[in-house]
Amino acid sequence: MRLTGGTIVPLRAPLRPPLDTAQGRVATREGFVLQLAVDCGEPGLGEASPPYWIDGRPLADTRAALEAIVKKLDDCREPAELRKALLDNRGTGHLTPAAACALDTALLDLEARRRGVGVAAILGGAAQTPLPVCALLTARTPAAIARQARGARARGYTVFKLKVGAGTPGDDLENARALRGAVGQSALIRLDANRAWSFTQAVSALRAIGPQGIEFVEEPLKRGAAAELARLADAAGVAVALDESIRRVADLEAFCPARGPAPVIVLKAARVGGLSRCVEIARAARARGVAQIVVSDAIESPVGMSAAVHLAAALASAGSAVGLGGASFGIRLPGGLRENAAVHDAPWLTPCGPGLKVSPRRSRE
Ligand SMILES: [Mg+2]
Repeated sequence: MRLTGGTIVPLRAPLRPPLDTAQGRVATREGFVLQLAVDCGEPGLGEASPPYWIDGRPLADTRAALEAIVKKLDDCREPAELRKALLDNRGTGHLTPAAACALDTALLDLEARRRGVGVAAILGGAAQTPLPVCALLTARTPAAIARQARGARARGYTVFKLKVGAGTPGDDLENARALRGAVGQSALIRLDANRAWSFTQAVSALRAIGPQGIEFVEEPLKRGAAAELARLADAAGVAVALDESIRRVADLEAFCPARGPAPVIVLKAARVGGLSRCVEIARAARARGVAQIVVSDAIESPVGMSAAVHLAAALASAGSAVGLGGASFGIRLPGGLRENAAVHDAPWLTPCGPGLKVSPRRSRE
């Protein structure tokens, strides 16, 4: 199989309603899908949609990195050669994490389809592991959150995620109460504070919301509060998860102390530079005692969502719901791309392959 060219397909999807996070409002999801054409069979797809509302990096950086990948195809026609040239010796800053993610995903998609298996299998996972999907609540008032959550519960969702920290602690509590009231006691509720709080604010907010029954809270503390994070879970009585704090294996050191509870780790391929890198980080996290690893998209199109589902299966995090913000917002594939990676709004997804293919079903029949 030889690579014959690359195409960068822009993605632009308005989020309705916009997503309010503690780092600001996200009204439109923009990004790219990289398409790698080959001399036999269908092209490989990978998404490059960086979390710019969190890292503040201009989207143009990712576009430039994708253009560099496409240019490299002029003298690099073998997939393995391209991976070696651009991904295996990274650290020189020549690709953004999102562009590296797109290249890694597209190469994995091609390799998996060449072998007739799913990307999850290439990453070392069990084939066709059905995964529960976490529904991101996008509504903004208690009544609207309850309505949205009841609808998702009726469709079969059992895990829900609520953004907190963007409004007042009182708003957060009312929203969490409305959500719990709508979904019942058996459903799991995750919170995401996107680094909203000081230690004191976090303890106070989480002690108030904690009685609603919280699976974990993502990134409760403002940047630079690593030392306090280990104390927070004890002080607030809610498990803590790290998301944007983990970009590379070395980041685990600060947050996974030898003593004290290990945090939950949330992995997003667009942030860390690809599915293969997520597998490396997950392996290192497990060696440090992390028991729960959660995979999530970064509010992506079906290409990024499918990649997240395959990654979650590869990490055998079958007990932990995969977060698909893109599905909650109904983000579609950019025009002109084939439907090899269609992801539906479904409470269970099975990464069936070949390549990135995902099926909206729960069993292996
Ligand atoms: Mg998060």
